Amino acid sequence: MKYYSLNNKNHQVTFEQAVINGLAPDKGLYFPESLSKLSEDFFDNIENLSNQEIAFQVIQQFIGDEIPEEELKRIVDETLSFDFPLVKIEENIYSLELFHGPTMAFKDVGARFMSRCLAYFNRNKNQHNTVLVATSGDTGGAVASGFLGVKGVNVIILYPSGKVSDIQEKQLTTLCQNITALEVDGVFDDCQDMVKKAFLDEDLKAFNLTSANSINIARWLPQMFYFFFAYKELKKHNKPLIVSCPSGNFGNICAGILAKKLGLPLTHFVASTNANDTVPRFLKDGIYNPKSSVATISNAMDVGNPSNFVRIQEMYDNDLKEFEKDFSSYSFSDEETKKTIYLIYKNFGYVAEPHGAVGYLGLKKEMINKPETIGFLLETAHPIKFLDEVEPLLNIKLPIPSQIESVLHKEKVSIKISTYEDFKDFLKH
Ligand SMILES: *Cc1c(COP(=O)(O)O)cnc(C)c1O
Repeated sequence: MKYYSLNNKNHQVTFEQAVINGLAPDKGLYFPESLSKLSEDFFDNIENLSNQEIAFQVIQQFIGDEIPEEELKRIVDETLSFDFPLVKIEENIYSLELFHGPTMAFKDVGARFMSRCLAYFNRNKNQHNTVLVATSGDTGGAVASGFLGVKGVNVIILYPSGKVSDIQEKQLTTLCQNITALEVDGVFDDCQDMVKKAFLDEDLKAFNLTSANSINIARWLPQMFYFFFAYKELKKHNKPLIVSCPSGNFGNICAGILAKKLGLPLTHFVASTNANDTVPRFLKDGIYNPKSSVATISNAMDVGNPSNFVRIQEMYDNDLKEFEKDFSSYSFSDEETKKTIYLIYKNFGYVAEPHGAVGYLGLKKEMINKPETIGFLLETAHPIKFLDEVEPLLNIKLPIPSQIESVLHKEKVSIKISTYEDFKDFLKH
């Protein structure tokens, strides 16, 4: 499979090159040059397939012969070493829990897949790759865990100082080995800007920089898997399906739309956002006008300029009318989010965290006029990662899962930086 740059269709590279580059040299995001629908047979029999079998069939066309079948199966198996339960919250509304992996956020899926692809590509090389990642919360921990000890790869994580939760910070600052955490005096967008700038910096060519944000296709593509897993469970109801994704960089929802392109029968997508409402505003007035991000309690979605939105536009040929048929986007305040966490627990006994609650709000809003549908939201993180919000609201004490317990008592190790120059100095020494 070839991938082209969204800035220039003539710039085409292999899967391996796209993974290693992260971003095309012209700053464009990579996009697969062709998509083939999965067979009818696949969808007819999906309930008889394991998650691993589904994922292998979904991903295979995107890799082609660049990774041998047996090897790719092993990568998929290792990626999906945990469960993806679909939990009923109330009549016709389900939560697809993506938080049962090692760092308890959905980003474990992409990070585990990507690290294993890179390890495969490095199998006979002596060179090092440096994975750079900007995180608004969860990416850092998932990438740190997914890449820990991977041969030939150094990982550098940039995170906004004071703007991630304590558990998130521990997850990305305590592993050490090939992982380094840089604590940036700024917001998430400052971290992301430094990463983007570094990729284009001629001085840093020798470092073989790549990204592990959802701009990297090996992080992004496997995020399709769980939309298929949800379909496998919900197919039996024979009703139109709506999915709501709590959205920040729009990687998840973009993967869901790609899954639909492969034939997955999802009828509508809702991008639910917090106060960072660039896309909801775009759908209202047709003007894409990114703003710098503002801090909210659903901090992993504090993104002012969602990277993957250009991929979504590509899939709809920039046709707003077509796009609006499949897609809605709504923004919710922290107050609404908190109230919702409280109400979901009070009415249904389900503990949601802020991102999932935003997803629930968007789903409910979309379903008001669509009573014949079934909806599911992506619950993107475990509530324990946001215990400072969740516990006081619900007046409960959440048990600490073993994955989290194991990092809590480790010592934070980070390097403070403020400017891009600090960042370069660090890289070069
Ligand atoms: C990253 C993240 C999101 C946002 O996902 P995107 O794919 O960037 O839209 C939502 N919730 C949590 C918990 C996250 O970590």
